[in-house]
Amino acid sequence: MRKEIKDIEFRDIIHQTNLELEIQHQRKYLDAKLKLCTGITIISSDNKRIDAATAVSNANLARKLAKEMDNECCVLFNNTMIEGIKKEVEITSGLTKAIQNGEFKVYYQPKIETDTLTVIGAEALIRWQKPDGHFIYPDEFIPLIERSGQIVELDNFVYREVFRFINRRISENKPIVPISVNVSRIHMQKLEILPYIKSLFDEYRIPPRMIEFELTESIYIENTDKALKLVEGFHAMGARVSMDDFGSGYSSLNLLSRLPIDIIKLDKVFLKDEGVEEHLKENDRIIISCVIDMAKRLRITSLCEGVETLEQSNYLSEIGCEIQQGYYFSKPISQDDFETFIDNRLLKYDLVM
Ligand code: C2E
Ligand code: CA
Ligand code: CA
Repeated sequence: MRKEIKDIEFRDIIHQTNLELEIQHQRKYLDAKLKLCTGITIISSDNKRIDAATAVSNANLARKLAKEMDNECCVLFNNTMIEGIKKEVEITSGLTKAIQNGEFKVYYQPKIETDTLTVIGAEALIRWQKPDGHFIYPDEFIPLIERSGQIVELDNFVYREVFRFINRRISENKPIVPISVNVSRIHMQKLEILPYIKSLFDEYRIPPRMIEFELTESIYIENTDKALKLVEGFHAMGARVSMDDFGSGYSSLNLLSRLPIDIIKLDKVFLKDEGVEEHLKENDRIIISCVIDMAKRLRITSLCEGVETLEQSNYLSEIGCEIQQGYYFSKPISQDDFETFIDNRLLKYDLVM
């Protein structure tokens, strides 16, 4: 009975969201697709009762979460939500200070060309080490600071660190390889990333091919036109651009021919062996092999990430993916360790100044 009432009410509301507008004497219908979000809290249970102000605040918190969820419009409050909010506030309010205190460090994960076993590049990955020594990993804090918009501040910090690092290695006459940096989806709304990067190139005067920008597959799918503007902007400066996490979301094969991407990074999901049935593993391998083949024909370089074993690495080389990144070769390492790594390993990059 309850469900029926809810369904009817929702249907009525959705029906009324086909807004009718009159534009230049013509009637137009705007399908507004409104989403109704509700938060619910229980005021009184067997052993507990809460006051009205707390009830409203709890329900409001549940409503906010419903708003952020794609497939939920009604969320029931529970106490773990308070813990989540506390953590979010702790992270977002302390971010700028943490950057100033030097708690954020850029780590580097080498990319290897397997037929020559040379290092051809590295990916810059952020690490947050709290004063007590323990690490907080990006998956824990990046979604939160993306929501607050502070990801721009953090990414700009990473970009500057990487430019400064490359500039120093070049001025010390030491070998260096191109470094890729991640671009958050929030930058899509703020195209000022382009002038910021331009100012870094002007300040540090590093060769443009030393920098690669990784944009995730979902960024390209969500807003293809803006993504194209970003790619063109990076290319105009001479930098390279890759499509990160390829294959992790919806298919974007058609985008590959439309967007001038230099590199695709195949997501580690293709290599996941544990808990995957044998015939699905085989399917993944067929897909990965076709994608690598297609990339070659489109003259796009392909790189596989998440390579953890020699067997995976050999298989990928066999099907034509010679550029690989993963724990098998090296975990992301601190800048000092990365310098030792590239000082002692064969590098494949002719630095043309
Ligand atoms: P991502 O860009 O896909 O980066 C690759 C992630 O896979 C990294 O996780 C890396 O440590 C991990 N990884 C590398 N090799 C292996 C492997 O062999 N096996 C497994 N299981 N994992 C491997 P990390 O550093 O925790 O970063 C997670 C995500 O956070 C990144 O995914 C990226 O989306 C984001 N991220 C990291 N640093 C930054 C940053 O500076 N800016 C932005 N906007 N996002 C960042
Ligand atoms: Ca990446
Ligand atoms: Ca990735």
